[in-house]
Amino acid sequence: MSSDSRVMVITGASSGIGEATARVLVAEGHRVALLARRGDRLSALASELGDQALAVQADVTDYPSLQAAAEQVVAHWGRVDALINNAGVMLLGPFTSDQHEERRRMVEVNLLGAMNATEAFLEHLEASGGDIVNISSVAGRTARAGNSGYAATKWGMNGWSEALRQELLPDVRVMTVEPGIIDSELREHTTDPDVKAMIQTAYDSLAIPAQDVGETIAFMLSRPKRMTINELMLRPTAQQ
Ligand code: NDP
Repeated sequence: MSSDSRVMVITGASSGIGEATARVLVAEGHRVALLARRGDRLSALASELGDQALAVQADVTDYPSLQAAAEQVVAHWGRVDALINNAGVMLLGPFTSDQHEERRRMVEVNLLGAMNATEAFLEHLEASGGDIVNISSVAGRTARAGNSGYAATKWGMNGWSEALRQELLPDVRVMTVEPGIIDSELREHTTDPDVKAMIQTAYDSLAIPAQDVGETIAFMLSRPKRMTINELMLRPTAQQ
């Protein structure tokens, strides 16, 4: 293992952007702790990636499971150099009482989940002088009819992330990434059939590979410590 090999924790590493980011970081020589709920997916990815990957089952809405994850990562590799708060769900639809549970779940996973994971890993990031990368969205900078709950979580994440940046500088860097339409499982979970059909059409025509986001995150993390890419939005070129 090279001396440049850092220990990076990725939440939501069982699919999509998290999985793609893990592959890119391992290819660059880093070690990755893969966190998510689906243990079978994590184990399969970890065995494919080898000694540089560790599968750690954890639910970002369950703080004790994140504390246990932090202990497991530190027991295994002795340190944590970066946390990528990527776990998220997108359950789009109009603001109606039918969406009550879906909105609550998005806030719990997308916003409070990132705060929970940060709380669980923060002392280790402060000890190493590490980095936090928060995966927001174009929906954290724009709002449309039909995405109020999801946009609220991502606008919330942007505000939290910027305040955290100011609190933790200069020891811990905090970065925000705002992707556009990316190919992943995210589009599958919306339950409203009309909205889901609209999303599928947009994704089928525009989505770019999750690897593009993984490579962007890896670039941001590779910048010298004297500078920080505070906020970065990326979209498919053809996206409005
Ligand atoms: P995926 O659905 O492919 O991945 C979401 C990941 O989040 C999965 O690994 C899932 O794992 C994990 N997750 C969900 N709930 C929990 C939970 N309670 N605890 C731990 N992990 C959880 O979608 P993406 O890769 O696209 O999404 C990753 C992030 O990127 C999200 O924050 C999303 O909002 C953001 N994003 C995505 C865009 C896109 O177009 N795809 C655009 C902009 C932002 P598991 O189910 O195993 O727990």
